[in-house]
Amino acid sequence: MSVATLTPPVKAYDNKSGPLDYLSASRLKCFQECRLKFYFRYVERIPTVTNPALFIGSLVHKVLQQWNLARWRGEASDLEAMRPVFEEHWTQDQPADGIDWGSKTEDAARDNTWTLLEHYFSATPIPTGEKPEAVEVVVERDLLAHGLPPLKGVIDLVRKGGRIVDFKTAARTPTSGMVEHHNDVQLGCYALLYREATGHDESGFELHHLIKTKEPKLVVTPLSPLTTDQTRRLLSQMESYVQGVEAEDFVPSPGQHCSWCDYFGQCRAWKGGGS
Ligand code: SF4
Repeated sequence: MSVATLTPPVKAYDNKSGPLDYLSASRLKCFQECRLKFYFRYVERIPTVTNPALFIGSLVHKVLQQWNLARWRGEASDLEAMRPVFEEHWTQDQPADGIDWGSKTEDAARDNTWTLLEHYFSATPIPTGEKPEAVEVVVERDLLAHGLPPLKGVIDLVRKGGRIVDFKTAARTPTSGMVEHHNDVQLGCYALLYREATGHDESGFELHHLIKTKEPKLVVTPLSPLTTDQTRRLLSQMESYVQGVEAEDFVPSPGQHCSWCDYFGQCRAWKGGGS
């Protein structure tokens, strides 16, 4: 199996460490959003406080992972089976220094999160008896032929027939027409990894957005397989990442995303020119 060739190719890659030891969708996305934020997270590795949205997103992901694994193993995967999984993770996954729930109480947050999952289980297009093709697959792909570090990632779920599914929690409904644009790096990485692992192309993607509105919603967005042009675009983005990190080009990119940036204080104190 082959992917599109970059012209001109970047230089051959060898034994780098830090953010250049491998590529991942999250590294690429963070670098694209703001290089200074990337610097604080992946170069300086400044620890951050767990906020409610991060905790809930992670917890929902873990419950859905167990739901997928239960279906894969042929075990019970109904609400009765998933509720103890939810409760266990809610208690065990709390950070040692706790979470600032702001104007909400923790009990209200827990109830709302379970209601969100209940809604997902009642509205998902995945039939209860459908056995996944793969769950939480850890894959690595060598991109040395493109002069790039290896690509690593974990695919949440592959449905029967090679349909890659990614679960997301969001505060509001994603804008129609922008979903693919906002997720093309992540889905492109999954496609390259899936093709490496299986030797054939994915049949398509599904994004399952669990919307945390007062009345929870599920928005399922089906997307087509990665095209050759999209592959070339992704490889160009990877090349830009490598060149930017090698050049230590970590300038800030202020925008709306600063409102939820974990490094706002460090950013305001930044005086330019690297660290
Ligand atoms: S506050 Fe904004 S500009 Fe500064 S590091 Fe965060 S995302 Fe980048």
